[in-house]
Amino acid sequence: MTQPEPASSSSSSAARSDFAPDTIVVESGRPQRTDGAAVNPPIDLSSTFVSTGDITASPYAYARFDTPAWTPFEEALGQLEHSALPGLVFGSGLAAISAVISLVPAGGTLIIPTHSYQGALSSAEQIAKRQNFDVVTVDIADTEAVIAALDEAGHATPGQTKTDGAAASASAGAAGSPGMLWIESPTNPMLEVADVPALTAAAKDRGFLVSVDNTFATPLLQTPLDLGADIVVHSVTKFLAGHSDVVLGAVLTSDAELREALHTERSMRGGIAGPFEVWLALRGLRTLAVRLDRAQANAHAIAERLAAHPAVVETRYPGLPDDPGHARAAAQMNGFGAIISFTVETADKATAIAEAVRLWTPATSLGGVESLIERRRRHPSEPATVPEGLIRLSVGIENLDDLWTDLEAALA
Ligand SMILES: *Cc1c(COP(=O)(O)O)cnc(C)c1O
Repeated sequence: MTQPEPASSSSSSAARSDFAPDTIVVESGRPQRTDGAAVNPPIDLSSTFVSTGDITASPYAYARFDTPAWTPFEEALGQLEHSALPGLVFGSGLAAISAVISLVPAGGTLIIPTHSYQGALSSAEQIAKRQNFDVVTVDIADTEAVIAALDEAGHATPGQTKTDGAAASASAGAAGSPGMLWIESPTNPMLEVADVPALTAAAKDRGFLVSVDNTFATPLLQTPLDLGADIVVHSVTKFLAGHSDVVLGAVLTSDAELREALHTERSMRGGIAGPFEVWLALRGLRTLAVRLDRAQANAHAIAERLAAHPAVVETRYPGLPDDPGHARAAAQMNGFGAIISFTVETADKATAIAEAVRLWTPATSLGGVESLIERRRRHPSEPATVPEGLIRLSVGIENLDDLWTDLEAALA
Protein backbone atom coordinates (compact mmCIF):
# COMPACT_ATOMS: atom_id res chain seq x y z
CA MET A 1 0.00 0.00 0.00
CA THR A 2 1.51 3.27 -1.08
CA GLN A 3 -1.70 5.25 -0.55
CA PRO A 4 -1.80 7.44 2.53
CA GLU A 5 -4.60 6.29 4.82
CA PRO A 6 -7.05 8.87 6.14
CA ALA A 7 -5.65 9.73 9.57
CA SER A 8 -8.58 8.25 11.44
CA SER A 9 -10.19 6.03 8.84
CA SER A 10 -12.00 4.11 11.58
CA SER A 11 -14.39 7.03 11.95
CA SER A 12 -14.74 8.22 8.37
CA SER A 13 -18.01 6.50 7.46
CA ALA A 14 -20.09 7.06 10.59
CA ALA A 15 -18.82 10.29 12.08
CA ARG A 16 -20.88 9.84 15.27
CA SER A 17 -18.70 9.26 18.27
CA ASP A 18 -19.68 7.68 21.59
CA PHE A 19 -17.47 10.16 23.38
CA ALA A 20 -18.51 13.45 24.93
CA PRO A 21 -17.59 16.58 22.94
CA ASP A 22 -14.83 17.56 25.37
CA THR A 23 -13.26 14.16 24.72
CA ILE A 24 -13.82 14.32 20.95
CA VAL A 25 -11.79 17.53 20.65
CA VAL A 26 -8.83 15.68 22.15
CA GLU A 27 -9.31 12.19 20.72
CA SER A 28 -10.54 12.64 17.14
CA GLY A 29 -8.38 12.96 14.04
CA ARG A 30 -5.46 10.95 15.46
CA PRO A 31 -3.39 8.46 13.44
CA GLN A 32 -4.23 4.79 13.97
CA ARG A 33 -2.65 3.19 17.02
CA THR A 34 0.10 0.97 15.77
CA ASP A 35 3.49 0.55 17.40
CA GLY A 36 5.74 3.40 16.51
CA ALA A 37 2.94 5.54 15.01
CA ALA A 38 2.96 9.25 15.70
CA VAL A 39 0.40 10.56 18.19
CA ASN A 40 -0.34 13.56 15.97
CA PRO A 41 -1.08 13.56 12.26
CA PRO A 42 1.84 14.88 10.17
CA ILE A 43 1.77 18.13 8.23
CA ASP A 44 1.37 16.51 4.84
CA LEU A 45 2.95 18.67 2.15
CA SER A 46 2.29 16.60 -0.97
CA SER A 47 0.48 18.32 -3.82
CA THR A 48 -0.05 15.02 -5.61
CA PHE A 49 -0.57 11.39 -4.60
CA VAL A 50 0.04 8.04 -6.18
CA SER A 51 -3.02 6.97 -8.13
CA THR A 52 -3.15 4.17 -10.66
CA GLY A 53 -5.99 3.60 -13.12
CA ASP A 54 -9.34 5.19 -12.22
CA ILE A 55 -8.36 8.45 -10.56
CA THR A 56 -11.76 8.87 -8.89
CA ALA A 57 -11.25 5.61 -7.00
CA SER A 58 -8.16 6.94 -5.22
CA PRO A 59 -8.78 8.47 -1.76
CA TYR A 60 -6.31 11.21 -2.61
CA ALA A 61 -5.10 12.19 -6.07
CA TYR A 62 -4.37 15.92 -6.15
CA ALA A 63 -4.30 18.25 -3.14
CA ARG A 64 -6.74 20.86 -4.44
CA PHE A 65 -9.47 18.18 -4.30
CA ASP A 66 -8.58 16.44 -1.03
CA THR A 67 -5.46 15.93 1.01
CA PRO A 68 -4.52 14.03 4.18
CA ALA A 69 -3.51 17.46 5.49
CA TRP A 70 -7.24 18.25 5.84
CA THR A 71 -8.79 14.89 6.70
CA PRO A 72 -8.11 14.70 10.47
CA PHE A 73 -9.55 18.17 11.08
CA GLU A 74 -12.52 17.54 8.77
CA GLU A 75 -13.34 14.31 10.59
CA ALA A 76 -13.00 15.89 14.03
CA LEU A 77 -15.34 18.71 13.04
CA GLY A 78 -17.82 16.25 11.52
CA GLN A 79 -18.00 14.38 14.82
CA LEU A 80 -18.36 17.55 16.86
CA GLU A 81 -21.20 18.91 14.71
CA HIS A 82 -23.02 15.54 14.69
CA SER A 83 -22.67 15.38 10.93
CA ALA A 84 -23.03 12.05 9.14
CA LEU A 85 -20.17 13.17 6.86
CA PRO A 86 -16.76 14.74 7.44
CA GLY A 87 -16.58 18.53 7.14
CA LEU A 88 -15.00 20.50 4.32
CA VAL A 89 -12.22 22.89 5.27
CA PHE A 90 -11.94 26.19 3.33
CA GLY A 91 -9.23 28.84 3.08
CA SER A 92 -11.28 31.25 5.25
CA GLY A 93 -14.65 31.54 6.92
CA LEU A 94 -15.77 33.80 4.12
CA ALA A 95 -14.67 31.29 1.46
CA ALA A 96 -16.88 28.73 3.23
CA ILE A 97 -19.76 31.21 3.41
CA SER A 98 -19.56 32.23 -0.24
CA ALA A 99 -19.45 28.59 -1.34
CA VAL A 100 -22.67 27.96 0.59
CA ILE A 101 -24.37 31.13 -0.65
CA SER A 102 -23.48 30.13 -4.23
CA LEU A 103 -25.94 27.25 -3.82
CA VAL A 104 -28.93 29.63 -3.87
CA PRO A 105 -30.60 29.00 -7.24
CA ALA A 106 -31.17 31.76 -9.78
CA GLY A 107 -34.58 33.29 -9.25
CA GLY A 108 -34.61 32.14 -5.61
CA THR A 109 -34.22 34.13 -2.40
CA LEU A 110 -31.60 34.28 0.32
CA ILE A 111 -33.08 35.42 3.64
CA ILE A 112 -30.31 36.66 5.91
CA PRO A 113 -30.15 38.51 9.26
CA THR A 114 -29.62 42.28 9.16
CA HIS A 115 -27.10 41.75 11.96
CA SER A 116 -25.06 39.10 10.16
CA TYR A 117 -21.34 38.99 9.98
CA GLN A 118 -20.86 41.89 7.56
CA GLY A 119 -18.67 39.92 5.16
CA ALA A 120 -21.47 37.37 4.76
CA LEU A 121 -23.94 40.09 3.87
CA SER A 122 -21.59 41.81 1.39
CA SER A 123 -20.65 38.51 -0.20
CA ALA A 124 -24.34 37.57 -0.48
CA GLU A 125 -25.18 40.81 -2.27
CA GLN A 126 -22.31 40.35 -4.71
CA ILE A 127 -23.10 36.72 -5.53
CA ALA A 128 -26.82 37.52 -5.80
CA LYS A 129 -26.21 40.09 -8.52
CA ARG A 130 -24.13 37.69 -10.53
CA GLN A 131 -26.36 34.67 -10.02
CA ASN A 132 -29.64 36.48 -10.21
CA PHE A 133 -31.31 35.78 -6.86
CA ASP A 134 -32.84 38.09 -4.26
CA VAL A 135 -31.39 38.94 -0.85
CA VAL A 136 -33.87 39.82 1.89
CA THR A 137 -32.64 40.99 5.30
CA VAL A 138 -34.61 40.18 8.46
CA ASP A 139 -34.48 40.58 12.22
CA ILE A 140 -33.57 36.96 12.90
CA ALA A 141 -34.78 37.18 16.52
CA ASP A 142 -38.29 38.07 15.26
CA THR A 143 -39.60 34.61 14.33
CA GLU A 144 -42.88 35.86 12.86
CA ALA A 145 -41.08 38.36 10.62
CA VAL A 146 -38.75 35.62 9.33
CA ILE A 147 -41.70 33.33 8.60
CA ALA A 148 -43.46 36.16 6.77
CA ALA A 149 -40.31 36.67 4.66
CA LEU A 150 -40.22 32.92 3.90
CA ASP A 151 -43.87 33.02 2.83
CA GLU A 152 -43.30 35.97 0.56
CA ALA A 153 -40.13 34.53 -0.99
CA GLY A 154 -41.83 31.15 -1.43
CA HIS A 155 -44.08 32.69 -4.08
CA ALA A 156 -41.10 33.42 -6.34
CA THR A 157 -40.41 30.82 -9.01
CA PRO A 158 -36.77 29.79 -8.97
CA GLY A 159 -35.18 28.78 -12.21
CA GLN A 160 -37.08 31.13 -14.50
CA THR A 161 -34.44 33.84 -14.55
CA LYS A 162 -31.62 31.35 -14.83
CA THR A 163 -29.40 32.83 -17.50
CA ASP A 164 -26.39 30.59 -17.90
CA GLY A 165 -25.02 27.16 -17.23
CA ALA A 166 -22.53 28.32 -14.62
CA ALA A 167 -25.23 29.54 -12.28
CA ALA A 168 -27.24 26.40 -12.87
CA SER A 169 -24.42 24.01 -12.10
CA ALA A 170 -23.21 26.00 -9.09
CA SER A 171 -26.62 25.54 -7.52
CA ALA A 172 -26.89 21.83 -8.29
CA GLY A 173 -27.21 20.91 -4.61
CA ALA A 174 -30.15 23.26 -4.14
CA ALA A 175 -31.98 22.62 -7.43
CA GLY A 176 -35.72 23.07 -7.09
CA SER A 177 -35.44 24.95 -3.80
CA PRO A 178 -37.01 28.42 -3.46
CA GLY A 179 -33.81 29.51 -1.75
CA MET A 180 -32.01 29.56 1.56
CA LEU A 181 -32.54 30.83 5.09
CA TRP A 182 -29.28 32.01 6.62
CA ILE A 183 -29.18 31.97 10.40
CA GLU A 184 -26.58 33.45 12.67
CA SER A 185 -27.21 32.90 16.36
CA PRO A 186 -26.11 34.57 18.54
CA THR A 187 -25.75 37.43 16.04
CA ASN A 188 -22.76 39.66 15.47
CA PRO A 189 -22.45 42.10 17.19
CA MET A 190 -25.89 42.44 18.80
CA LEU A 191 -25.95 38.99 20.46
CA GLU A 192 -29.58 38.39 19.47
CA VAL A 193 -30.70 34.77 19.70
CA ALA A 194 -32.79 33.19 16.91
CA ASP A 195 -35.33 30.48 17.66
CA VAL A 196 -33.35 27.99 15.58
CA PRO A 197 -35.69 24.93 15.82
CA ALA A 198 -38.78 27.03 14.95
CA LEU A 199 -37.03 28.74 12.03
CA THR A 200 -35.55 25.57 10.56
CA ALA A 201 -38.97 23.85 10.75
CA ALA A 202 -40.73 26.78 9.05
CA ALA A 203 -38.07 27.05 6.36
CA LYS A 204 -38.07 23.34 5.57
CA ASP A 205 -41.88 23.24 5.39
CA ARG A 206 -41.56 25.80 2.61
CA GLY A 207 -38.72 23.99 0.83
CA PHE A 208 -35.87 26.33 1.82
CA LEU A 209 -32.39 25.14 2.66
CA VAL A 210 -31.18 26.30 6.06
CA SER A 211 -27.58 27.29 6.83
CA VAL A 212 -26.33 28.31 10.25
CA ASP A 213 -23.16 30.28 10.94
CA ASN A 214 -22.11 28.58 14.18
CA THR A 215 -18.93 30.60 14.74
CA PHE A 216 -20.01 32.36 17.95
CA ALA A 217 -21.40 29.23 19.63
CA THR A 218 -18.95 26.54 18.44
CA PRO A 219 -20.17 22.92 18.25
CA LEU A 220 -19.60 22.59 21.99
CA LEU A 221 -22.44 25.03 22.72
CA GLN A 222 -24.77 24.44 19.77
CA THR A 223 -25.18 21.73 17.11
CA PRO A 224 -27.43 23.23 14.41
CA LEU A 225 -27.73 19.98 12.41
CA ASP A 226 -29.56 18.55 15.46
CA LEU A 227 -31.85 21.62 15.37
CA GLY A 228 -32.86 20.96 11.75
CA ALA A 229 -30.25 22.89 9.75
CA ASP A 230 -28.96 21.48 6.44
CA ILE A 231 -25.59 23.22 6.52
CA VAL A 232 -23.31 24.61 9.24
CA VAL A 233 -20.49 27.06 8.53
CA HIS A 234 -17.61 28.17 10.71
CA SER A 235 -14.96 30.78 10.73
CA VAL A 236 -12.33 28.38 12.08
CA THR A 237 -10.20 31.50 12.56
CA LYS A 238 -12.11 32.21 15.78
CA PHE A 239 -12.79 29.81 18.68
CA LEU A 240 -12.00 26.54 16.88
CA ALA A 241 -8.38 27.42 16.09
CA GLY A 242 -8.46 29.76 19.08
CA HIS A 243 -5.08 31.51 19.02
CA SER A 244 -5.52 34.33 16.50
CA ASP A 245 -2.82 32.80 14.29
CA VAL A 246 -4.72 31.30 11.33
CA VAL A 247 -7.48 32.26 8.92
CA LEU A 248 -9.62 29.25 7.95
CA GLY A 249 -13.21 28.18 7.42
CA ALA A 250 -15.30 25.03 7.32
CA VAL A 251 -18.66 23.71 6.14
CA LEU A 252 -20.59 20.71 7.45
CA THR A 253 -23.61 18.87 6.11
CA SER A 254 -25.06 15.38 6.48
CA ASP A 255 -26.49 15.56 2.94
CA ALA A 256 -24.19 13.80 0.46
CA GLU A 257 -25.52 15.74 -2.54
CA LEU A 258 -25.00 19.09 -0.83
CA ARG A 259 -21.54 18.05 0.30
CA GLU A 260 -20.65 17.10 -3.24
CA ALA A 261 -21.86 20.47 -4.56
CA LEU A 262 -19.81 22.30 -1.90
CA HIS A 263 -16.80 20.12 -2.57
CA THR A 264 -17.06 21.07 -6.25
CA GLU A 265 -17.31 24.76 -5.30
CA ARG A 266 -14.14 24.41 -3.22
CA SER A 267 -12.20 22.51 -5.88
CA MET A 268 -13.27 24.70 -8.80
CA ARG A 269 -12.86 28.14 -7.14
CA GLY A 270 -9.55 26.82 -5.91
CA GLY A 271 -8.82 29.08 -2.92
CA ILE A 272 -7.98 26.19 -0.63
CA ALA A 273 -6.53 25.91 2.88
CA GLY A 274 -2.81 25.35 3.44
CA PRO A 275 -1.61 22.21 5.28
CA PHE A 276 0.13 24.12 8.08
CA GLU A 277 -2.92 26.27 8.84
CA VAL A 278 -5.13 23.20 9.12
CA TRP A 279 -2.59 21.49 11.35
CA LEU A 280 -2.60 24.56 13.62
CA ALA A 281 -6.40 24.51 13.69
CA LEU A 282 -6.44 20.87 14.83
CA ARG A 283 -3.82 21.70 17.44
CA GLY A 284 -6.00 24.58 18.65
CA LEU A 285 -9.11 22.39 18.67
CA ARG A 286 -7.49 20.07 21.25
CA THR A 287 -7.98 22.71 23.96
CA LEU A 288 -11.33 24.11 22.78
CA ALA A 289 -13.30 22.71 25.71
CA VAL A 290 -11.02 24.07 28.44
CA ARG A 291 -10.52 27.40 26.64
CA LEU A 292 -14.24 27.85 26.21
CA ASP A 293 -15.04 26.87 29.82
CA ARG A 294 -12.68 29.49 31.13
CA ALA A 295 -13.58 32.20 28.60
CA GLN A 296 -17.28 31.64 29.20
CA ALA A 297 -16.94 31.82 32.98
CA ASN A 298 -14.97 35.06 32.60
CA ALA A 299 -17.59 36.44 30.18
CA HIS A 300 -20.47 35.63 32.50
CA ALA A 301 -18.86 37.43 35.44
CA ILE A 302 -17.87 40.43 33.32
CA ALA A 303 -21.37 40.69 31.80
CA GLU A 304 -22.90 40.78 35.30
CA ARG A 305 -20.49 43.49 36.40
CA LEU A 306 -21.08 45.55 33.24
CA ALA A 307 -24.86 45.28 33.66
CA ALA A 308 -24.49 46.78 37.16
CA HIS A 309 -22.07 49.55 36.08
CA PRO A 310 -23.44 53.14 36.02
CA ALA A 311 -21.56 54.07 32.79
CA VAL A 312 -23.15 51.21 30.84
CA VAL A 313 -26.47 51.88 29.07
CA GLU A 314 -27.14 48.30 27.99
CA THR A 315 -25.37 44.94 28.21
CA ARG A 316 -26.18 42.08 25.85
CA TYR A 317 -25.09 38.60 26.91
CA PRO A 318 -27.49 35.67 26.52
CA GLY A 319 -26.34 34.30 29.88
CA LEU A 320 -27.88 37.22 31.81
CA PRO A 321 -31.29 36.05 33.12
CA ASP A 322 -33.05 39.22 31.91
CA ASP A 323 -31.42 39.22 28.45
CA PRO A 324 -34.09 39.03 25.69
CA GLY A 325 -32.34 35.95 24.23
CA HIS A 326 -31.82 34.13 27.54
CA ALA A 327 -34.71 31.65 27.41
CA ARG A 328 -34.05 30.64 23.80
CA ALA A 329 -30.32 30.30 24.39
CA ALA A 330 -30.95 28.19 27.48
CA ALA A 331 -33.26 25.93 25.46
CA GLN A 332 -31.06 25.36 22.40
CA MET A 333 -27.49 25.91 23.62
CA ASN A 334 -25.19 24.23 26.14
CA GLY A 335 -23.74 27.54 27.31
CA PHE A 336 -23.85 31.24 26.52
CA GLY A 337 -20.46 31.79 24.95
CA ALA A 338 -17.69 34.30 25.47
CA ILE A 339 -18.85 37.32 23.44
CA ILE A 340 -20.48 40.32 25.14
CA SER A 341 -21.70 43.57 23.67
CA PHE A 342 -22.39 46.63 25.78
CA THR A 343 -23.33 50.19 24.96
CA VAL A 344 -22.10 53.43 26.46
CA GLU A 345 -23.66 56.85 25.78
CA THR A 346 -21.57 58.06 22.85
CA ALA A 347 -19.15 56.96 20.15
CA ASP A 348 -16.43 59.12 21.75
CA LYS A 349 -16.84 57.43 25.11
CA ALA A 350 -16.67 54.01 23.47
CA THR A 351 -13.53 54.98 21.55
CA ALA A 352 -11.95 56.34 24.73
CA ILE A 353 -12.63 53.06 26.56
CA ALA A 354 -11.07 50.97 23.79
CA GLU A 355 -8.02 53.27 23.89
CA ALA A 356 -7.68 53.31 27.69
CA VAL A 357 -7.42 49.56 28.30
CA ARG A 358 -3.97 48.13 28.95
CA LEU A 359 -4.68 44.38 29.17
CA TRP A 360 -7.54 44.02 26.67
CA THR A 361 -6.28 44.36 23.10
CA PRO A 362 -8.08 46.87 20.90
CA ALA A 363 -8.59 44.76 17.77
CA THR A 364 -11.27 43.21 15.61
CA SER A 365 -11.90 39.44 15.47
CA LEU A 366 -12.77 37.15 18.36
CA GLY A 367 -12.43 33.70 19.85
CA GLY A 368 -8.72 33.73 20.72
CA VAL A 369 -7.14 33.14 24.12
CA GLU A 370 -6.51 36.89 24.49
CA SER A 371 -9.33 39.32 25.31
CA LEU A 372 -10.23 41.80 22.56
CA ILE A 373 -12.25 45.01 22.65
CA GLU A 374 -13.74 46.96 19.76
CA ARG A 375 -16.20 49.77 19.06
CA ARG A 376 -18.11 48.22 16.19
CA ARG A 377 -19.31 51.32 14.37
CA ARG A 378 -15.70 52.19 13.54
CA HIS A 379 -16.29 49.79 10.63
CA PRO A 380 -17.89 51.81 7.82
CA SER A 381 -19.88 48.71 6.78
CA GLU A 382 -21.53 48.20 10.18
CA PRO A 383 -25.32 48.72 9.90
CA ALA A 384 -26.81 51.93 11.33
CA THR A 385 -28.99 49.81 13.62
CA VAL A 386 -25.87 49.03 15.68
CA PRO A 387 -25.55 51.81 18.31
CA GLU A 388 -22.62 54.23 17.90
CA GLY A 389 -21.53 53.52 21.47
CA LEU A 390 -21.63 49.71 21.18
CA ILE A 391 -18.50 47.86 22.24
CA ARG A 392 -17.97 44.18 21.47
CA LEU A 393 -15.86 42.14 23.84
CA SER A 394 -14.28 38.82 22.98
CA VAL A 395 -13.46 37.50 26.42
CA GLY A 396 -10.32 35.40 26.67
CA ILE A 397 -8.81 33.13 29.28
CA GLU A 398 -6.78 35.59 31.36
CA ASN A 399 -7.33 36.08 35.09
CA LEU A 400 -10.83 37.46 35.68
CA ASP A 401 -9.83 40.07 38.24
CA ASP A 402 -7.09 41.41 35.97
CA LEU A 403 -9.60 41.70 33.11
CA TRP A 404 -12.22 43.44 35.24
CA THR A 405 -9.77 45.82 36.93
CA ASP A 406 -8.51 46.93 33.52
CA LEU A 407 -11.98 47.37 32.02
CA GLU A 408 -13.33 49.12 35.11
CA ALA A 409 -10.46 51.61 35.05
CA ALA A 410 -11.13 52.30 31.35
CA LEU A 411 -14.85 52.79 32.07
CA ALA A 412 -13.96 55.36 34.72
C1 LIG B 1 -14.97 36.11 11.39
C2 LIG B 1 -16.32 35.62 11.03
C3 LIG B 1 -16.60 35.19 9.72
C4 LIG B 1 -15.57 35.27 8.59
O1 LIG B 1 -14.53 34.38 8.79
P1 LIG B 1 -13.02 34.61 8.22
O2 LIG B 1 -12.32 33.43 8.74
O3 LIG B 1 -12.55 35.93 8.75
O4 LIG B 1 -13.13 34.64 6.73
C5 LIG B 1 -17.86 34.70 9.47
N1 LIG B 1 -18.81 34.65 10.42
C6 LIG B 1 -18.59 35.06 11.68
C7 LIG B 1 -19.67 34.98 12.68
C8 LIG B 1 -17.34 35.56 12.03
O5 LIG B 1 -17.12 35.99 13.28
